[in-house]
Amino acid sequence: MKYDVAVIGGGVAGYPAAIYLSMKGFKVVLFEERLIGGECTNYGCVPSKAWYYVSEAVKTLKKIGGEARIDWASTLSWVRDVVDNTRSSLEELLYKYGVEVVKGKARVKDREHLYVDGIVFEYGNLLLSLGTDPKPLGNIVFDHDKVLSNREVLYLDDKPESLLIIGGGVIGVEIANMFANLGVNVVIVEALDHILPFTDTDVALSIKKYLLEKNVTIYEKTLVKKIEKEESIVKAYLSNDEIIEADKILVAIGRSPKTMDVGLENIGVSLDKAGYIVVDKELRASGSNIYACGDAIGGPLLAHKALLESISVAKRIAGEESFTINYDLVPVTIFSGLEIALLGYSEKELRGKGLKYVVKKLPIYYLSAVRIKDSKYSFVKIMFDPENNRVYGVEIVSPNASEIVSAYLPLYMGSLTMETIAKTPYPHLTVSESLREFAEYVLGEPIHIFIKR
Ligand SMILES: Cc1cc2nc3c(=O)[nH]c(=O)nc-3n(C[C@H](O)[C@H](O)[C@H](O)COP(=O)(O)OP(=O)(O)OC[C@H]3O[C@@H](n4cnc5c(N)ncnc54)[C@H](O)[C@@H]3O)c2cc1C
Repeated sequence: MKYDVAVIGGGVAGYPAAIYLSMKGFKVVLFEERLIGGECTNYGCVPSKAWYYVSEAVKTLKKIGGEARIDWASTLSWVRDVVDNTRSSLEELLYKYGVEVVKGKARVKDREHLYVDGIVFEYGNLLLSLGTDPKPLGNIVFDHDKVLSNREVLYLDDKPESLLIIGGGVIGVEIANMFANLGVNVVIVEALDHILPFTDTDVALSIKKYLLEKNVTIYEKTLVKKIEKEESIVKAYLSNDEIIEADKILVAIGRSPKTMDVGLENIGVSLDKAGYIVVDKELRASGSNIYACGDAIGGPLLAHKALLESISVAKRIAGEESFTINYDLVPVTIFSGLEIALLGYSEKELRGKGLKYVVKKLPIYYLSAVRIKDSKYSFVKIMFDPENNRVYGVEIVSPNASEIVSAYLPLYMGSLTMETIAKTPYPHLTVSESLREFAEYVLGEPIHIFIKR
């Protein structure tokens, strides 16, 4: 069987290219060994945000002295429905656009052939959208019962009393917030200086204070040395000599690219030290017909990045005018109640690069939208180039930050000035008003905050 294009991996980096190319009349085959939609649809973005939505509602009711309790089984069933419906919509689209979907693990034989279960497929172009697996921690291996990854923690049949999270990165913090909202005793153990170690300290500290108020226990600069499983609990031995007991452990220390045992060595694909596929600017991984994109090539492991890369590859394969990704524009978003959205450089990165910058920071708790949605730790911080006022980076710590960062993108892209923003009617009562407030503040004419002159 000969195909114009073969795509290995049906996640956010794979299916968009498959659909696009099939739509344009190419004969496309897509291989998926697990579930269409990949990590995002089945074990990541979709189920985690469904739980998040419910858990924030519970938090809000509790805050005003209400009694909020969810039925765990029916919530889980709703989450499953959301995921299943999302996945079947994608399957239907692939079917309707004429993409041939083959179940099973694909391995590459040479620059024109790959095989699944002994059946050989011939291809013209190949897209490697292989994604990642959750990374285990040394000898603390996933057992799908007490020691969990994101793939199980979002599908627990019963609510655990307690959850120990190893790793205070994005996934660890998102899950901590969500489970704490639902009344689970959560402990985070982070090996580095602070949770969300890649962020500026003021960002991490805000989230830390916010989580501490929800009774999340946080250990920083602390390692889990070993664990012991008992009948109904698991014990974790920490480097500070404390012993933590929990019903479940979530290991969220990072991801491993699925680039092994796929035959990549047969087609001259290079991997970096961490096992991610090395690509050029046009996302070519080897020669003119082998491409790779999404989590498997590293960079920010985010679905919106994977999706755009996939479309850019598809356009290139189709011989159309394509585009290269401006990675500076990929917002990092963290859905942690008090949410975080980051664009461009952090202060930490600017210092590391030796770049001079000016920083303006506006606490935004005074905005009604923030006050209602709850968090006194909210702020917007923008770093500027002092020479020409170009925006180096934006950090938003507030409810809805992951949504409203889109309003900040034009500023970051240089297509909006503070003067224009100050005259733009950002809708009341939304957190996006923070942008106009920020402009007024920078221009020295704030209405809603008092500045002594
Ligand atoms: C808990 C969690 C929450 C997240 N939340 C968000 C969020 O809110 N927003 C966001 O932007 N990102 C989020 N992410 C990240 C997002 O899920 C990933 O960036 C995205 O899934 C990457 O897509 P991908 O297609 O590159 O890889 P994957 O989704 O991993 O897909 C790769 C697919 O390839 C298949 N595959 C691999 N090798 C083979 C082979 N040899 N043969 C056949 N099939 C193969 C795999 O089975 C898999 O289905 C989250 C991740 C997690 C874990």
